[in-house]
Amino acid sequence: MGPGRVQDGFGIIPGWVWDDPGNPGMGPGWIWDDPGASPPSPPPLFLLVFDFDETLVDENSDDSVLRGRALPGHLQHDPDSEPYNRHMQRVLAWLGEQGVRPSDLRATYESLPLSPGVPNLLKFLSKHRRLFELILISDANVFGVEAKLRAMGARSLFRKVFSNPAGVDGRGFLTLGPFHSHRCPRCPANMCKGKILREYLEQRAGEDVEFQRVFYVGDGANDFCPAGGLRPGDVAFPRKGYPMHRLILQEPPGTFQATVVPWESALEVERSLQELVQGK
Ligand SMILES: [Mg+2]
Ligand SMILES: [Zn+2]
Repeated sequence: MGPGRVQDGFGIIPGWVWDDPGNPGMGPGWIWDDPGASPPSPPPLFLLVFDFDETLVDENSDDSVLRGRALPGHLQHDPDSEPYNRHMQRVLAWLGEQGVRPSDLRATYESLPLSPGVPNLLKFLSKHRRLFELILISDANVFGVEAKLRAMGARSLFRKVFSNPAGVDGRGFLTLGPFHSHRCPRCPANMCKGKILREYLEQRAGEDVEFQRVFYVGDGANDFCPAGGLRPGDVAFPRKGYPMHRLILQEPPGTFQATVVPWESALEVERSLQELVQGK
């Protein structure tokens, strides 16, 4: 981390945002830090990581953008021959050809329903924002995630949003790119959430922010990798019966170190955190 990069109120992460300065005319080109978390207040004790699709929101936004349209045969996803991120690039181009504009997509993202209990959980976290630092890691895209967070007035709760970069091409179609490259055999080529979380914790440690505990709220198979890196004392909150939960249950006993609290409503996450806060 170079000097001054994430130390002030503008943690600029070039290339990770859908509307970076390379795409003029698309609004501010950075992800900003939460102004409420500025010094001199002591750093938060806990890090809470949120997934987006089917965790914060109750749908898979990659499906929601179709709005009931059936994909033509040549666009059906074959996981053996095409990475999912590439597949979504083609889906977005096809939607563009169907006349779906970025503003239409934005409206879809903004109207995604929240998962049960999420408004209460966010209210709780907002009330205790001195204790909890929030980040969001999503394999959707920055355009959609940011649109939803802003529409629900929750953007400032999150210190960082990590998601695939998106932009608008010359035809006015939404485009998508990979987040990064990595060597994790478990994760899709465009994004390893485990690597993102590890690097974030390292970066924060370099800024003298060491979290007592890390909490991870997710649902998907790609949430298993970061949750697998959690330590005893940390808590994984897998959505009950979803892939992340199933993968945790398949682990040999003693392998998965974090406490596991499955949830059907985010109220159960809130209750867990509430106990912790009351114990403080
Ligand atoms: Mg998800
Ligand atoms: Zn991974």
